[in-house]
Amino acid sequence: MIQITMPLNMLGSVYREIRQALVDMAEMFDLLDRPTEVADRPGAPELTVTEGCIELDRVTFGYDPERPILRDVSLTVPAGRTVAIVGPSGSGKSTIGRLLFRFYDVTGGAIRIDGQDLREVTQDSLHAAIGVVPQDTVLFNDTIRYNIAYGRPEAPPEEIEAAARAARLHDFVVGLPEGYETRVGERGLKLSGGEKQRVGIARTLLKNPPILLLDEATSALDTETERDIQDALRAVGRGRTVLTIAHRLSTVADADRIVVLEEGGIVEAGTHETLLARGGRYAALWRRQAVEDAA
Ligand code: ATP
Repeated sequence: MIQITMPLNMLGSVYREIRQALVDMAEMFDLLDRPTEVADRPGAPELTVTEGCIELDRVTFGYDPERPILRDVSLTVPAGRTVAIVGPSGSGKSTIGRLLFRFYDVTGGAIRIDGQDLREVTQDSLHAAIGVVPQDTVLFNDTIRYNIAYGRPEAPPEEIEAAARAARLHDFVVGLPEGYETRVGERGLKLSGGEKQRVGIARTLLKNPPILLLDEATSALDTETERDIQDALRAVGRGRTVLTIAHRLSTVADADRIVVLEEGGIVEAGTHETLLARGGRYAALWRRQAVEDAA
């Protein structure tokens, strides 16, 4: 009996392992609601990123053709600059991120990177050029090292450590009992939201993409964590083109340009100072958030 149950137990654990891995992969790919309807054009060339300039040219889009979500949105993120998109919940901010990753095709207008229409290049090359730091980084049931190196398993230890340092994660990791070999995830050490996000930032730094899409956290973090994350995000954004989808305003003040989206259209754009001075929609959103944060 023992002889039979032992292998069965082992089989059970292998099964759980495989099932968990599948769940992890599913979560990974569901991060931004990935559908399967977009296909590469036959013979499509790879995207060539020379500068990293992103251009949304009169973009119109609706998940359902009857219900437009974005209307005539034009927006340029010059190479090496940071543009933040803010606006009320449901205004279409995350949708812009999904379109940049070409999870859906625009219904009108075009999105281009360095002049190349996203519909004309391979999705693999597009995805290789864009690093995404999502709100919720998915951790695999494996070591911290594996989780940082995910996507570049051949990365040498020095590079993994350098990425972790820049993401303000290294000191935390070396304080763990097994350092970079500590297992994390569902069946390992549970990391806090801020730590998980820093793993995501380190992962992106290691991938070293010319373009970054940041999906910023919805919820308030404590001040120290928020400062660490901000430092890490600044490190990851240096020298890259960054499009930030900001669900909160506290993190966008130093963007080169802030775009305010309302009901799928751009209603204001400028720097934090000019928008505050204008006393319009951004200033109102800013005041409202200050009240909410104080509550
Ligand atoms: P938040 O700050 O709350 O995340 P958001 O500005 O990012 O909001 P989006 O997620 O872009 O808003 O959603 C814009 C609109 O599109 C919403 O009305 C939403 O219900 C709708 N929507 C989002 N995803 C889908 C989807 N996969 N299918 C159909 N409608 C969707």
